[in-house]
Amino acid sequence: MVFSDREGKVYIHPFLRMVVQEGTRLRLPLKEELIPLPQGCRLFFLPGRRPLGFNPGSSSFEVLSLFEGRGVWAVGAFLIPAYLRLHLPATFWEDRNILLPLWAYTAVGFFGGRFFVSAVRVDRRQRQWPRYYKGISLRKNIEKLLKRYPQNRLLRHFANCAYNYRCLAATNLFLHRWEASLVVSNRCNASCWGCLSYQKDLFIPSHQRISFRPHIEEVAEVALEHILSASEPIVSFGQGCEGEPLMESKLLVRTLKFVRRRTLRGTIHLNTNASIPAAIDELGAAGLSSLRISLNSAREEFYNLYFRPRGYKFSDVIRSLKVAKKRGVFVSLNLLLFPGFNDTRGEVEALVRLVKKYKVDMVQMRNLSIDSEFFSQVVLKDFKEKPLGMLYLWQKLKAIKGLKLGYFNLPHSEFSHFQNL
Ligand code: SF4
Repeated sequence: MVFSDREGKVYIHPFLRMVVQEGTRLRLPLKEELIPLPQGCRLFFLPGRRPLGFNPGSSSFEVLSLFEGRGVWAVGAFLIPAYLRLHLPATFWEDRNILLPLWAYTAVGFFGGRFFVSAVRVDRRQRQWPRYYKGISLRKNIEKLLKRYPQNRLLRHFANCAYNYRCLAATNLFLHRWEASLVVSNRCNASCWGCLSYQKDLFIPSHQRISFRPHIEEVAEVALEHILSASEPIVSFGQGCEGEPLMESKLLVRTLKFVRRRTLRGTIHLNTNASIPAAIDELGAAGLSSLRISLNSAREEFYNLYFRPRGYKFSDVIRSLKVAKKRGVFVSLNLLLFPGFNDTRGEVEALVRLVKKYKVDMVQMRNLSIDSEFFSQVVLKDFKEKPLGMLYLWQKLKAIKGLKLGYFNLPHSEFSHFQNL
């Protein structure tokens, strides 16, 4: 078991063993659930949370409050993209005034000179690995593009995202490669508890929403620049620094038509809550390549508890899925996963039913970034279903013929060729 002092220095406990948490349940991890901490992952200390370990002498779980007379905190890991978290760090919530920032914390331990995490790799691609973003000459590339399009406010917005927030999609835009951002909307019709771009007072959002409504020329300029110059280009509406792009669906449709009149190159993608089926239909007709629908659950009750939709229903999301498939759009689910919830029989069965019934093309396995104790209180109150393990969920999805499983959005060249790990 690992723990930290109040300054964030990490220690290895002399005899307590690593314990993992699924929802609110504790257990010892299995060997096949642990992998060496992938390069580029970070460790976090968790203020207000005491570490929980297993004492082999007494065969019991123990909360560690003090070590050598000093207070300690629990430790969690943040995984790099392409890895699915299998378990939460085992903790005791001592100071209930402290909520943890919006990250996906993963159980971590130490053995034989190495850190181990409870995780599995779910995508063979390495698109957002930290090593591809180190030592690059970003400033020069930003300046070059800003000089070429001096009036474009959207490019200035992305320059800030890339330079100050280290946003990978914005960085790709200036490096002319892979998936780049396109943002259009300041508003949303949902109130997800873990929204990264808007929070009232509980959490601090990790991104700021775009503060202006871009003109079609600005959006199309960025889209065309990337599509025509990048390697394996994808332009994606629906980023962490905006609301729901469908709230600006007219602008999306006009941009799509404008771009597609000039080129058929590249993939035009939309990350969305899919709340407006009519808008999805129009976008499909205008040439949208792919759509990724965010879901935390395939059951309406739990969807509503987390997304808190305003003015649309879960059935609208399903209608959007159907409409997109009918239009020939490649449809993925952005599955926001929480160990101990999404791996229960009820959840797995509902998801498998939905994927099969509507012929979803791909499921992206994403780790929900939220304080686990908070999530358990607001979404899993009175939830009694038994977790079967995230590996169980993964295997069940893997067994669906033709379904692609991964982490990243695909360029259209891989819509039919992508193979599961
Ligand atoms: S749908 Fe997206 S933008 Fe809207 S509240 Fe949820 S996370 Fe935030």
